[in-house]
Amino acid sequence: MLERIVEEVAPLRGAGVAADYIPALARVDPGRFGIALADLDGQVHGAGEWETAFSVQSISKVFTLALVLAGTDESLWRRVGREPSGNAFNSLTQLERERGIPRNPFINAGALIVTDELISQVGDASGDLLAFLRAESGNPDLRVDEEVAASEAAHADRNLAVTHFMASYGNVRNPVPEVLDQYVRQCSIEMSCRDLALAGRFLAAHGVRRDGTELVTNRQAKRINAIMLTCGTYDAAGEFAYRVGVPGKSGVGGGILAIVPGRCAVAVWSPGLDVRGNSVAGVAALDHFTTLTGWSIF
Ligand code: GLU
Repeated sequence: MLERIVEEVAPLRGAGVAADYIPALARVDPGRFGIALADLDGQVHGAGEWETAFSVQSISKVFTLALVLAGTDESLWRRVGREPSGNAFNSLTQLERERGIPRNPFINAGALIVTDELISQVGDASGDLLAFLRAESGNPDLRVDEEVAASEAAHADRNLAVTHFMASYGNVRNPVPEVLDQYVRQCSIEMSCRDLALAGRFLAAHGVRRDGTELVTNRQAKRINAIMLTCGTYDAAGEFAYRVGVPGKSGVGGGILAIVPGRCAVAVWSPGLDVRGNSVAGVAALDHFTTLTGWSIF
């Protein structure tokens, strides 16, 4: 079935444009495509370029949120909301109206607060994240793409502004440059569809990791999936629910991690993005996937 999806989305490969506000991402060929599925037993299947590493970007925000929630009570929710924003992922205007409390953990402002919280918990937030991702994917070679990290750090004026702005409201606990550095590093981690599907599998397994231990509770996994569904695909979460119908988190590297609770995690990658920042072929592939399987949650 994954091979069939590769064929069905072939006409869409190359549609859209690779993100260009991070110069190192703009060089990636928008026509590439891969898809992988990890089931609850940790079996993984793939088609297309499913073992090619790409920049996970905002998909990392799902994992930092899970790590923060795993390490604390729910006090994070005093610092960040959980409603869709309806605004661009890097918007400043809403943040001013809402006095430095970001709408949700998946817009940049909210993810920066989550990273700040993870630094408070573990120090080296991106290192902690990498260790988790390596363990779940079984791939010890996962790493930060230093070229992407440097490119992103050199073009981080907006994210710096957002973080300083929240700091002015007392909502940032660590030095802004450190929060930014850790955030850029987490976004610049390279993973393949295979790695991502395996790493996201715990969200399909109600919070239980591949080794059988619990990362987050059943209730927390349910809630992370809910936030992915309502906030995970920029300001197109309604359209994503309409077309795909499962929790998903996209990144400007062209990846999308989708969760079918109780069944599997699916990762797709194709760098051509639509105007909202979601992969054109990736969303189409997931649309085919949930239609062919009948596994939309709706
Ligand atoms: N590192 C990117 C940024 O902060 C992430 C954007 C994304 O994938 O949504 O702009």
